[in-house]
Amino acid sequence: MTQLLYQTDSYLQEFDASIVSVLADEHAIVLDQTAFYPGGGGQPCDFGSLTIADVICPVQKVKKQGEHVLHFLGDDVPLPSTGSTARGALDWARRYKLMRTHTALHVLCGTVFRDYGALVTGGDMEPLKGRMDFEFETMGGELVREIEAAVNKEVAAAREIRVKILPREEAFQIPDLIRTKINLLPEGISQVRTVEIVGLDLQADGGTHVHNTNEIGNIRVVDYKSKGAINKRIYIEIE
Ligand SMILES: [Zn+2]
Repeated sequence: MTQLLYQTDSYLQEFDASIVSVLADEHAIVLDQTAFYPGGGGQPCDFGSLTIADVICPVQKVKKQGEHVLHFLGDDVPLPSTGSTARGALDWARRYKLMRTHTALHVLCGTVFRDYGALVTGGDMEPLKGRMDFEFETMGGELVREIEAAVNKEVAAAREIRVKILPREEAFQIPDLIRTKINLLPEGISQVRTVEIVGLDLQADGGTHVHNTNEIGNIRVVDYKSKGAINKRIYIEIE
């Protein structure tokens, strides 16, 4: 089982670990702990490098497989052996942009629910760009500008972001979490990680977030489109 360091410290850029298994076919390694985000919840995986015995190995993809995190190394580096130690370093510029983007999408989600009662049906992101689908019957330019102004007000409000890992039973008692489909979590999961934008939004979420909404930057709603009778998609960019 790989210990997920990013779950409790999203600002960790470098870390030491040991190699617990080597997958020759995939040209990938499993570490005992990692700060690399393996992707999920709309947030893409991290890139970066692992230095093993003075060789810098690029990490080209990271993926969760059961309880393990697989780090896919560049094809031209030789595979290390199990038991070696590794020093990991994230492509921090990219990851921090993803943290700002992910938190921006939660600000959007929380603001739209508070102001219009519209639920989210899906979302996706890349560094400084994202989209989110809402249950809206109609959407027009005026509404979009209203939403844009409201989300930037929340950015300026410098709201704190708090991450907690709760026992499943405790998380299921929180009414706010029910609306974000916490009930879809598999039976076997005994703990639930929650991300709260204090006073605005609370979700069960595995992603990496900034500590304060004032780190996000200005959010622009750059486009919107209809994705069906009750689904409308909003596109954002972060400046
Ligand atoms: Zn999220």
